[in-house]
Amino acid sequence: MIVGIDLGTTNSLAAVWRGESSELVANALGQFLTPSVVGLDDEGRILVGQAAKERLHTHPKQTTSLFKRHMGSAHEVYLGDRAFRPEELSALVLKSLKEDIERAYGEPVLEAVISVPAYFSDAQRKATRIAGELAGLKVDKLINEPTAAALAYGLHQRGKETSFLVFDLGGGTFDVSILELFEGVMEVRASAGDNFLGGEDFDEVLLQHFVDKMRNVTNFPSTDAVIQPLRREAERVRKALGQETSAEFVLRVGGEQWSLSLTQQKLAELYAPLLERLRAPIERALRDARIRVSDLDEILLVGGTTRMPLVRKLAAGLFGRFPSITLNPDEVVAHGAAVQAALKARSAALEEVVLTDVCSYTLGIEIANQIGQNIERGHYMPIIERNSIVPVSKVKTVVTMHDDQKSVLVNIFQGESRLVKDNVALGQLDIPVPKRKAGEVSLDVRFTYDNNGLLEAQVDIPLTGEQHSLVIENNPGVLSPEDIQKRLQALALLKIHPREQQVNTLLVARLERLYQESLGDLRQQVAQWAGYFQHALESQDERRIREVRGELNAQLETLDAGFWH
Ligand code: AMP
Repeated sequence: MIVGIDLGTTNSLAAVWRGESSELVANALGQFLTPSVVGLDDEGRILVGQAAKERLHTHPKQTTSLFKRHMGSAHEVYLGDRAFRPEELSALVLKSLKEDIERAYGEPVLEAVISVPAYFSDAQRKATRIAGELAGLKVDKLINEPTAAALAYGLHQRGKETSFLVFDLGGGTFDVSILELFEGVMEVRASAGDNFLGGEDFDEVLLQHFVDKMRNVTNFPSTDAVIQPLRREAERVRKALGQETSAEFVLRVGGEQWSLSLTQQKLAELYAPLLERLRAPIERALRDARIRVSDLDEILLVGGTTRMPLVRKLAAGLFGRFPSITLNPDEVVAHGAAVQAALKARSAALEEVVLTDVCSYTLGIEIANQIGQNIERGHYMPIIERNSIVPVSKVKTVVTMHDDQKSVLVNIFQGESRLVKDNVALGQLDIPVPKRKAGEVSLDVRFTYDNNGLLEAQVDIPLTGEQHSLVIENNPGVLSPEDIQKRLQALALLKIHPREQQVNTLLVARLERLYQESLGDLRQQVAQWAGYFQHALESQDERRIREVRGELNAQLETLDAGFWH
């Protein structure tokens, strides 16, 4: 059996072709979406999915997410005392999906079609294949995510030349691709995007609005202390306002509660600047593909955040027509990968022209930002944006921060995170500068990136005419066949959290999170529930465990529906 897998940044899912159509496969918790989160449980075993996600903030050193952003680089993450490469973390997600499919269909799964973003470079594609190999899956074929969306919508069956645009807005990224199907070959004509624009950014805006409104309310807790419940509440309210005309943003801590009523209209006002940002990548993709909106045969919406009516409305306005939304936007890519798997099984897989002449990571430097009275180091200033067509050369100017500063350290990074600590360090230039008042010496930092992945960083000081440069061979280190064998053996030794325990582990993790996030009476209540469930688990009586679990899950649902989710 060949299966299709959408290996996503926030969530992953698997689909199989059965007879006439593709079916999504449920995981051990009965859900189609498996969060792309990997962690260690309390016994040091590997835990994947929702239970790991619940532990992201309660066990930050044992849990990791967003590793897709590092595919194709050697960026390692420690879980406990073992370092994991992005391929290995992806392999653990793939393994978990593979097991779900095998359980569901009682057949071994040996081969998969895995989807990747259209802008993925050669190194990132190789890393994805290796992740498959490490999970025990042969990956003959990768499929571009927008191509998968097209297959799910059956565009390949139209039998004529077709041009279409895929508008993919997920949890953290926005990708626009323009594709053309011509004589049975799908070509990505252009791809553009914004790696810092997704559902989470919309949540952040809502959260900020709530906090601003509460600023002068007595006793309102510090934002840092309640950031997780605030984020979850923002997401809940954002989703609710997709259905209802008004909703209540509520934060409860201890016995106290703060709330704010929000309407769809207010939401539209708050989101206007973010919605506006969706425009530029679309225009750029259209320009790059040299295509007019009126020449597009179809607009496809992909990614969970395109469920927002405001996003759909904007898309309809921009394209002058209603986009196709007959399939669930967070499921289309997996369905399309399964279609490709079915075509492949019949040796009829759709051919693709891949677009790899782009710089697939953002390249930038560390800067310090003035925040109020304080100077905060460690911020990232992108110079070459991800997805720029190579060769590319870009320059940005920085200035000295202190009076009589003797030198400036230019730290170079690759990655997409706001803080450099979350990006990959590539190199450093220590540049002596003439002593002047703060801000009087400027430095022009020019990055030039060529087709061979060579980055040249050049710093000019106009005041003195001096020039410094550094060449960085950006070899992210694709694993060698020997390394793959070693990693395969090491992965085989890892203990995996038992599948049948996942429902219990999820409940324990949820209770633990709630305990950490709450105060006062609620915290006491959560502690009692945790004790009660622990007691049930110790009884080892399956029926009793199931009963208590059902009871507590129902309690948590009511809590979530009100204010926690
Ligand atoms: P994805 O990366 O495609 O899995 O998308 C995840 C994002 O979709 C998250 O930011 C969710 O908040 C968002 N999302 C999922 N369902 C909805 C919904 N009904 N309304 C608005 N946003 C949603």
